[in-house]
Order: sequence, then structure tokens, then C-alpha cells
Amino acid sequence: MIDFSPRVARVSASMTLKINAEAAALQAGGTDVARLGAGEPDFDTPENIKRAARQAIDDGFTHYTAIDGYTGLKEAVQAKFRRENRLDYGLENIMVTCGAKQGLYNICQTLIRPGDEAVIPQPYWVSYPAMVIMAEGEPVFARCPMEAGFRLTPGALEDAISDKTRLVFLNSPHNPTGRVYTADEFADIGEVLRRYPDLFIVCDEIYEHLRWGKAPYVNFLNVNPDLRDRCLVVNGVSKAYAMTGWRVGYLAGPADIVQAMNKLQGQSTAGTSSISQRAACEALNGDQSVVDKMVEGFRERHQRILPEVQDLPGVQCEPAEGTFYLFPDFSEVIARRDDIADDIYLADRLLHEASVALVPGSAFGAPGHLRLSFSNDLETCLEGVRRIKQFLGR
Ligand code: PMP
Ligand code: GLU
Repeated sequence: MIDFSPRVARVSASMTLKINAEAAALQAGGTDVARLGAGEPDFDTPENIKRAARQAIDDGFTHYTAIDGYTGLKEAVQAKFRRENRLDYGLENIMVTCGAKQGLYNICQTLIRPGDEAVIPQPYWVSYPAMVIMAEGEPVFARCPMEAGFRLTPGALEDAISDKTRLVFLNSPHNPTGRVYTADEFADIGEVLRRYPDLFIVCDEIYEHLRWGKAPYVNFLNVNPDLRDRCLVVNGVSKAYAMTGWRVGYLAGPADIVQAMNKLQGQSTAGTSSISQRAACEALNGDQSVVDKMVEGFRERHQRILPEVQDLPGVQCEPAEGTFYLFPDFSEVIARRDDIADDIYLADRLLHEASVALVPGSAFGAPGHLRLSFSNDLETCLEGVRRIKQFLGR
């Protein structure tokens, strides 16, 4: 047996990606799987964006770019932050990464010192704790129970903070619960964080555009501008422009932190693909109506699927305010049935016996739940829920 480094040995494989791979393998073997597992838009990347990538290849834009992204894309990111978020950053504050995932990874590797703690609201996206552990830090969870609307309260946040806290993760719209934080909620969270001047704040805004409410998007910094020197805003093109495979994310933050992350990126990936960067530049600068059309599609699916899920016997499900996830609670079902030990087993049986892929809530720190992604087409989602219903009726 190879004795792997504790950084890697302590973390498990990404459950979201694992379920996705398992469902894909079953499908490749001829099983018709309703794939409600991974969060990736089923829409095709818009044509203008694909055209920009082809053009990049034809132009010979196929070499290394600057590690933190080529200037054209950094300017597009700068303009995006001004236009959509009322945030004014210099180019020295911005960096382009291999997906938002590498932005988050860079932050953990750059800021967390061995033994530092990172506060993660629970439920959480699968990769936050793993990234903290891989940086030799300790995740500390702030509980956000369903009964409290899955929201991070100032009390739960304060309880999780200690003199070792280095980072606090915020994510709105939130994966997996679909919560969207209001200005007032962010103000309350800001009030707590203001009292701890040594910690940094990560704002993961990857689902920014995926909301049903008409109110403009509220960024944590819009409400707490004085915390700007401690805040890293992470975003990317994966979700809004159906570009998960292109691997382009970006972030903005204090110039000295960005510079340190640039060093890390230069010694690891050297940044993302030049062709993807030109495509992302078109995504941010080009016609934005494509985003509205996709969001309308997600909203419609949410409205159609939610009542079906709420109708499942023994299942509780809150509406989502954004993202493309529902996070129903199956604990009553699990408690009632002797043949289902927990959510992991339930997800496994649903995949293999009912051919519907969902991610167990345990992966997000919420045992008893299952995450249902409606990023697949409506018919597949409805069929998936029908299969769950049939399985539960057995
Ligand atoms: N943050 C959250 C909350 C996510 O769900 C994801 C999943 N893709 C990411 C970040 C990373 O996105 P990407 O690397 O595809 O830009
Ligand atoms: N973020 C998506 C999800 O939660 C994609 C998979 C991943 O990167 O974890 O399913």
C-alpha cells in the first residue's frame, strides 16, 4: 500500500463528480439513467462563445498566456464587476483561474497556515472542507439547519469563530440549499466579521445569475464595503454561460493576496487554456440575453418539479430561491424503512434499482437529505421524480 501524503489521504473523492461518473458509466453501458446528480447546465454553450474559441485557434492564440489571465479577459472581468456588482477593481486585484474551483483552492493554499481554522456554513458545497484540509487547515462548521431556513445566523457564525479562524466561506446563491442571502442578512454577518479583523472572507458567487427573484443581486461587499481589504470574490463562467468544461473562473481581492496566488498558480497550472480564455471574454462582453433565457428555463423547471418533490410521501422540500438544486429531506423515509440505513445507501439504491442519480446529503454535511439537480431537461427531471416515487412506494 502506498503511504499517501496526509493532505490527500484525509480527503475523500468529490461525491458530486463521483456520482456523475457512476451515472455516466451506467448510461454508457446502456442503462437509461435520469441524471439529477451533478450540477452542470444541460444547455449548449452559446454559439457566439464557441465562435470566439474557434477564432482563437485560427488566430494562433494557442500559447501560454499571462499566469493570471490575458489582459483582454482581465479587462472583461473588471468591466463585469463594475457593471453587475458595482465593484471597482484594478487589474492588479483580478486573476483568472481554472474554474472557480481553482480560485477557491488558490485562496486556501495561499492564506491557510497549518492549524488555522476555516468556518464553513453547513450544509456546504462538497469541496470546501476538502480544500481546507488539503491546505493543512481545519474546517469548523457553522450549522444552518433546515428549520432555520438553512441560513447562517450571526449567532452560529460567532460560535464557530475562534482565535485560530483564518477564513470564512460565504456562498450565495447557495449550493446545495438554493438559499439567496438578503442585504439585511449580509449586514448582520458583516457586523460579526467586522469584530474579527484577522480573518478573511470568501464570497463564492458562482450561481450569481441563477435566481428567480427580480431584485438585483446583492453582493456581500455592496452591504459591507469597509470589509473589502479582507474579502475575496470568486466567480466564473461555468454556470451562467453553460461552460463547465471550459474551466474558466476568476476572482478579485487585495493585490498582495492576488500576487501570492499568482505565484502559486505559476508553479502549478500556469493558468487556464488560452482558447477558453478567449471564449470566456466573449461570454462576459457579448450578448447577455443568453443568460436570461437559461435562467428562465431553470425557473420554469423549479416551478414544475418542486410540487412533484413535495408530493413524495415522507419527504420535506423547501423551495429554492436560486441555483438549480432542490435539497429535500428524506429522514422520515429513512427512519420508517428498515431496508434503508441512511442517505448514502438510499442514493445508491435509487441509482442501481431505480436508475435515478442524486447526491447524498452527507456529502454536503446534511445526512438524511438528497440533492436533486434540475440542471437536466424538464422531462428527465420529472421522470427522475416519478422513479423516486415508484421506489418509495415499493
Ligand atoms: N462553487 C460552488 C458552490 C460550486 O457548486 C461549484 C461547482 N462547479 C464551484 C464553486 C466551482 O465551479 P467551476 O470550477 O466549474 O467554475
Ligand atoms: N459544482 C457542481 C456540483 O456541485 C459540479 C461538480 C463539482 O465540481 O463538484 O455538482
